[in-house]
Amino acid sequence: MIVSDAAANSSCLFCKIVNGQIPALVVGETERALAFRDINPQAPTHVLVVPRTHYPNAAALANADAELTADMIRLAGKIAESEGIADSGYRLMFNTGEDGGQTVFHVHLHVLGGKNLGPMVAI
Ligand code: AMP
Ligand code: ZN
Repeated sequence: MIVSDAAANSSCLFCKIVNGQIPALVVGETERALAFRDINPQAPTHVLVVPRTHYPNAAALANADAELTADMIRLAGKIAESEGIADSGYRLMFNTGEDGGQTVFHVHLHVLGGKNLGPMVAI
């Protein structure tokens, strides 16, 4: 079952950020999505784009709401513009599940850039 009510996920870190219970450095938003700086940045620009509604991962989000998925990607593009990395390039990443390195199970789109990010996967 997909839990789609953010308020129902009282133990979810990113639901708490969306609800204002935990502070975050917000850099952009839409009616349905929020963008804030990652607390442990892995690049000069490292922003997380999250839906205001709780979905556990990217596939669940896209299956339930294609327009919200697109809204998040558009917001990521706007963040890249405002961060000055749209021309130099950047990486959009959805870590999914244990092998994918996902640690917060509220879907989030990483926006990474501001330096050459090197190979796609660290080995
Ligand atoms: P992932 O490993 O793909 O699930 O990404 C989770 C991300 O959330 C990591 O990059 C963390 O640094 C980041 N993170 C964890 N707690 C916070 C927080 N309170 N505010 C902002 N970012 C956070
Ligand atoms: Zn959540």
